[in-house]
Amino acid sequence: MKVKEILAASDRTLISFELLPPLKGGDIGKVYNAIEPLMEFSPSFINLTYHRDEEVIRQRPDGTLERITVTKRPGTVALAAAIMKRYDVEVVPHLVCGGLDRHTIENILIDLNFLDIDNVMALRGDPAPGERFFTPTRGGHAYCSDLVRQISDMNRGVYLDELQQNPIPTHFCIGVAGYPEKHYESPNLSQDIRNLKRKVDAGADYIVTQLFFDNARFFDFVERCRAEGITVPIIPGLKPVSSLKHLEMLPRTFHIDMPEALTEELSRCRTDEQAKEVGIEWSVGQAKELKAAGVPAIHFYTMSRSGNICEILKRVF
Ligand code: FAD
Repeated sequence: MKVKEILAASDRTLISFELLPPLKGGDIGKVYNAIEPLMEFSPSFINLTYHRDEEVIRQRPDGTLERITVTKRPGTVALAAAIMKRYDVEVVPHLVCGGLDRHTIENILIDLNFLDIDNVMALRGDPAPGERFFTPTRGGHAYCSDLVRQISDMNRGVYLDELQQNPIPTHFCIGVAGYPEKHYESPNLSQDIRNLKRKVDAGADYIVTQLFFDNARFFDFVERCRAEGITVPIIPGLKPVSSLKHLEMLPRTFHIDMPEALTEELSRCRTDEQAKEVGIEWSVGQAKELKAAGVPAIHFYTMSRSGNICEILKRVF
């Protein structure tokens, strides 16, 4: 079932989770171990992140250097299909522009279609490691809106391969990312929201936000999106702080502010356990307020660990 239909059919705040495929060669059992306790809370859909190939320089045994391509977390498509089959839950595999040309993207979407996966989360992806700016792959897309357009074209039966005589339309429901505190490359929030509108105009059905710790930023963002003419559902994304190092790491990695009250509480913590409890309490407060405001769903970034997320859900839902 499509996420947009699930959202439209519900009159309460739903729950969704984001998980990562295991590191290459890692145990799929770890992902299942993370999902199992979460299933108790009947998530409406589960997202699986997509990780682009990376080019690295490696030293050969004879001392010479070679450039190779490594994929740290492959398997998004297969894992999405495996989770859907195992838990009978809707899945939303992510798909990025970075490192992929249009034909490869088309083939991935054909795989998803054959697997009866109805949803896809379209993203541009970050710059490749070691690069300052995002560089589109040759024959690939520069912006997420171009990827959304490609998926929308396939939904209308328009494929890249012109040899195809009567292409069958796909039926993907398309999610895209939004940034309540603006995307870090954007000069300001207004410009970023105008670019978000491009994604919606290209065919995006709903928006999931970057994580944030200040609900006021989210409410303001929604208001500004509506004023810009964006009418699709906007789902807030939450990630609880779960260790002392998150105090610096989360703002730096995700280009977001941490409110002073949260920073002060975390500064008083001496152990990761204490920081985790502060993180749970803060997310509980955020989730309660978001739920009371009637958001369509709350999307939890789990990082494939479920203990703290389950604790939050028990206290809120
Ligand atoms: P875009 O929408 O293309 O925007 C990128 C920048 O370009 C923004 O500053 C925007 O304002 C600007 N822009 C957009 N269109 C135009 C235009 N036409 N002209 C000029 N400027 C424009 N990354 C992964 O690698 N894998 C994942 O699985 C993944 N999942 C994510 C899930 C969520 C919910 C979120 C919020 C992020 C996720 N990311 C993931 C990170 C994401 O790839 C990065 O944030 C990336 O830098 C931007 O992706 P985007 O799709 O928002 O890009």
